[in-house]
Amino acid sequence: MTVLVINCGSSSVKFQLIDLGGDETSTRQDDELKGVIERIGTETPDHMAALGLVAERVQAHLSKTGGNLTAIGHRVVHGGAEYSEPTLITDQVIETIDRLSVLAPLHNPANNDGIRAASRNFPGLPQVAVFDTAFHATMPKAHRTYAVPVEWEHEYGVRRYGFHGTSHAFVSRACAKWLQAERQINPANSRIVVLHLGNGASACAVAGGKSVDTSMGLTPLPGLVMGTRSGDVDPAVFGHLNRVADMSVEEVETALNRDSGMAGLCGDGDMRAIEARLAAGDEQAELAMNVYIHRIRSTIGAYIATLGGVDAVAFTAGVGENSETVRAKIATGLEGLGISLDANRNKGRGSDPSGIREISAASSTVSLLVIPTNEELEIATQTNQVITRLQQRG
Ligand code: ADP
Repeated sequence: MTVLVINCGSSSVKFQLIDLGGDETSTRQDDELKGVIERIGTETPDHMAALGLVAERVQAHLSKTGGNLTAIGHRVVHGGAEYSEPTLITDQVIETIDRLSVLAPLHNPANNDGIRAASRNFPGLPQVAVFDTAFHATMPKAHRTYAVPVEWEHEYGVRRYGFHGTSHAFVSRACAKWLQAERQINPANSRIVVLHLGNGASACAVAGGKSVDTSMGLTPLPGLVMGTRSGDVDPAVFGHLNRVADMSVEEVETALNRDSGMAGLCGDGDMRAIEARLAAGDEQAELAMNVYIHRIRSTIGAYIATLGGVDAVAFTAGVGENSETVRAKIATGLEGLGISLDANRNKGRGSDPSGIREISAASSTVSLLVIPTNEELEIATQTNQVITRLQQRG
């Protein structure tokens, strides 16, 4: 089972060939091909041309390894209320993804360009859409509902959807397996908080394998402080800035997405640069870091209440997997919640061969784990499941 995973943005196409072999959790690395086509619109004319280049490289690779492509799995950002599962792509699915573009104008159109271009360049191959929102479809109604006029949801789709679902699904499942093996906790009862801390950042409360709350919302803007996105702000900032600074809705929205977060607070959106400045005693960087950490800790507290307790907190993505400093700042002083970090175990980066590194102290009732995310593998796995189900039905 070889799946081509495609993540199509407005100016780039990331692709990876994943051979799932017999076991869906392990892949045959030597058979893999991975790459990115950048500068679409300038160097590469359009998505059709980009997927043409991908097809050439994939075919060259497969003729060398003697492999066969079984399916294509596409990352699609917004599945709205329509999609709670990975879905075989048909013309009707493409239309629906187009219709959902109002909810994700920066992402869904590019995702669909990739789908259309892939079906031209790989004719006859089944294609599956894996939605970033899907994992959160299990959120209870009370957790996904905003306290706004009720018709806003029915008429305009205004509600919490959540994002990073592929990552939260992958990491929470690995975490639940670890809790079962190491602490004999039944996965059906496990309570996990996943912190996906990358350029984009979100938290997810997972009960018995299901998302019950998450920090992003209608769009990927709210929740935690991110590289350039603000996370939570008072929504009245739109009206206020319109009145006092004559800023339009679009201007405020753009500023909250691109010029805010860590970059807005201290000029640097990259955590490595911020850490270097912190070490040099930079006060602006220190304030940015404190805002970032405070928001994460508040969210952990909220999710412990939502879950009625917590068995594990999992750190993932660029910052979560690599920043010893951020993990230590998040965990320090939470002993009252049963959270206690082992400074030695927390040192350095990477993980042991199982992919999971425990960084909690022996006295900690909550397991603190570093779990590298793998969204491409998760998309391939979910694509495989759709295709297998289809074949079984004949
Ligand atoms: P994306 O959301 O774009 O996929 P990543 O998950 O790759 O982003 O995360 C990028 C972030 O991870 C950046 O802020 C980067 O500075 C941070 N990061 C990567 N390596 C380290 C490190 N060793 N220490 C601290 N931060 C790191």
